Amino acid sequence: MKKKSIRDFDLKGKKILIRADFNVPLDADLKITDDTRIKSSIPTIKHALDRGGSVILMSHLGRPKGEANERMRLDPVRDRLKELLGRDVRKLNDCVGSDVRDAVKSIRPGDVMLLENLRFHKEEEKNDSSFAKELASLGDIFINDAFGTCHRAHASTEGVTKYLPSGSGFLVEKEIRYFESLVEKPEKPYVAILGGAKVSDKIQVFGRLMDNVDAILVGGAMAYTFLKSQGVNVGGSKLEADKLDLAKDILDKSEKKNVKIVLPLDHIVADKIDENAETKEVGREIPDKWIGLDIGKMTIKKFKEVLKTAKTVVWNGPVGYFEISKFGNGTKEIAGFLADLSATTVIGGGDTAAAIAKLGLEEKMSHISTGGGASLEYLEGKTLPGIAALNDRE
Ligand code: AMP
Repeated sequence: MKKKSIRDFDLKGKKILIRADFNVPLDADLKITDDTRIKSSIPTIKHALDRGGSVILMSHLGRPKGEANERMRLDPVRDRLKELLGRDVRKLNDCVGSDVRDAVKSIRPGDVMLLENLRFHKEEEKNDSSFAKELASLGDIFINDAFGTCHRAHASTEGVTKYLPSGSGFLVEKEIRYFESLVEKPEKPYVAILGGAKVSDKIQVFGRLMDNVDAILVGGAMAYTFLKSQGVNVGGSKLEADKLDLAKDILDKSEKKNVKIVLPLDHIVADKIDENAETKEVGREIPDKWIGLDIGKMTIKKFKEVLKTAKTVVWNGPVGYFEISKFGNGTKEIAGFLADLSATTVIGGGDTAAAIAKLGLEEKMSHISTGGGASLEYLEGKTLPGIAALNDRE
């Protein structure tokens, strides 16, 4: 791996400025409903403290749009961090300014400080250089452990690296290791599973994946745009009518590149998207007024046949409307099958990660990404600004 990680720095007596991802869901009483992101940041923080450093944490939470917002303060995060670290965490009321600078002056090895939500300042997302410089002035070393924002050039991900020696935390290091191996030297056969709602989000990924993979299994609502482009009736299923030509183009290219694109052979259809909907299983064609919401038995069998011999699998997007259990069978069957495969299995973040978590299969996958958008951009072959900006290993 070419990028420096926290392991490569002498941390003794240093102030370690860590960009973490504490963008956790909060309920109406501002209680954290899922603390996974905070928990996963602990190894990097502990490493810095164990090696004699002090830690200054920064993160965004929600979309405050450049203004302070009482419902998006990081106080609940501070409380949870205290519990998880078993030590005091001092939270500041801002992330820049003279109070912050003064507070940081008194920091000692072993201390942990948490800055206020970065996105209370519009300069964060604008990657404003004086804002980035001010953040950087708080630390001696910058560590990025927020993969979910690495595809954005923000002051706390990219800007700050211009002023400090910088490397990845353990979370980002693992993401880089898995995604680099997928892009550069995947063990073959390499199979991608693409699902979810929108073709437009994932269209770019097909182009790049086709240079690498042996097969792409397409499920979810995305499949209907592809089927329709072949003249198949998809009834009332979700469709991106303006993407039909693009879908056809991808199918034509896949033939030229000798990449097998497998579209659903049958479907679970319903009269509405509802737990109490009337459902039935149909073949390739979907009758008018019926909505395709999951892949059918034959498709599941076909997908498993292709996956059986795979050495590498990447999965982005559920193959059905899994939030409603009636339409979650395809996603459940595929996840269960992957769990027992000896292949390297990489799960894109977002909804696919949520589906795997719902099924309790997290431990059975090689890697579950913490960034949906970032992982897609990696697979598209794009350079992620937050990663590109980190120092290279000599
Ligand atoms: P995406 O953000 O593009 O990965 O889409 C994820 C969403 O796609 C999930 O909420 C799924 O429930 C949804 N989805 C999957 N299959 C279908 C389908 N056949 N029709 C409508 N939505 C679907």
